[in-house]
Amino acid sequence: MKPAKIVVKVGTSTLTAGTQRLNRRRMLSIAQQIVAVRESGTEVILVTSGAIAAGRERIGHEQSSRINTSKSLPAKQMLAAVGQAHLMLAWEQIFGMFDVQVGQVLLTWADLSDRRRYLNARDALNAILAYRVVPIINENDAVATEEIRVGDNDTLSALVANVVNADLLLILSDIAGLYTADPRQDPSATLICEVSQIDNAVWAMAGASRSGLGVGGMSTKLRAAELATRSGATMVIADGARPNVILDAVAGKSVGTRFAATSTKIESRKRWILSERATGSVIVDEGAAGAVRSGRSLLPVGVRDVQGGFERGEAVLVKDLGGHVIAQGIARYSAAEAALLMGRQSSEIETILGYESAPMLIHADDMVVVAAPARSKV
Ligand code: GLU
Repeated sequence: MKPAKIVVKVGTSTLTAGTQRLNRRRMLSIAQQIVAVRESGTEVILVTSGAIAAGRERIGHEQSSRINTSKSLPAKQMLAAVGQAHLMLAWEQIFGMFDVQVGQVLLTWADLSDRRRYLNARDALNAILAYRVVPIINENDAVATEEIRVGDNDTLSALVANVVNADLLLILSDIAGLYTADPRQDPSATLICEVSQIDNAVWAMAGASRSGLGVGGMSTKLRAAELATRSGATMVIADGARPNVILDAVAGKSVGTRFAATSTKIESRKRWILSERATGSVIVDEGAAGAVRSGRSLLPVGVRDVQGGFERGEAVLVKDLGGHVIAQGIARYSAAEAALLMGRQSSEIETILGYESAPMLIHADDMVVVAAPARSKV
């Protein structure tokens, strides 16, 4: 079935065709395909990297080679500020050749991290699409500091796919997809066409393969795939240089590695819960894991361990005894409180903490189950 809404993410190495400059011919091919996809009735959101690369191009490579962006955040912010304008101008001119308007949306993690701002971003993107304008998104690198940035556009594009409820996230890279090993080092590496579950074996393959250019290696792509597929989208990684790659991916042809959606479309609030960055986890016993999987709340009595930090109202991962993530939810108590409550009855909460805000650690309404029961190994 033809997707109704897709997110296309273009990495720096694809935009520059591996050079030091934006490659307009490459950008033209991408724009042309996006225009054709739109004309066939699919809405398209473009997530573009390349601001820093465009900044270097704009201020001249001789001068920019003296700027060490890995050391100096202000230098990086300056390059992003210069380059983002340059990048958008290029996209605007290229889409303008097809009489298609574009609109720039610069996001940071902070713009998506609470429910109200998440909904604002969603409304803005939907409004832009409703006017038949192509939203072009990048991280707001000029102001994004470590604490508020997403950090890589693979993850950003998965968040965007989550926000707009996309059916397909297409990540265009300089690598054709996920290989059994790093194809640059191991000539016997083969491309994996379809991944139905992102398990340890898949992560092991990603560890062995690292895309050399841009920020995102294969591991950020896999993290993006986890978020996108849990949110109900299919994700495809493909070679951005491949002719007609966007058209073919939208038509459902095999163009790289396809990660099947692991959930059907889920309601907006649950998608938001998944988009939250979880900094801690709770390990639960088998009984609680079963309850969570069947859609019930997580009670303190079933919690065996609390790892990492989280405050009340923040996202937390629920893991089974084997360490597998089974759900993500919004905690009713902080990590420190949860550690005091674990293994205890809900009726004891008030005595232990001096107050009770809820009888459960995570309410069923605030929890999204992300994995089916672990299959026994054969
Ligand atoms: N936002 C960065 C840029 O435009 C790219 C980040 C990434 O490619 O992951 O330069």
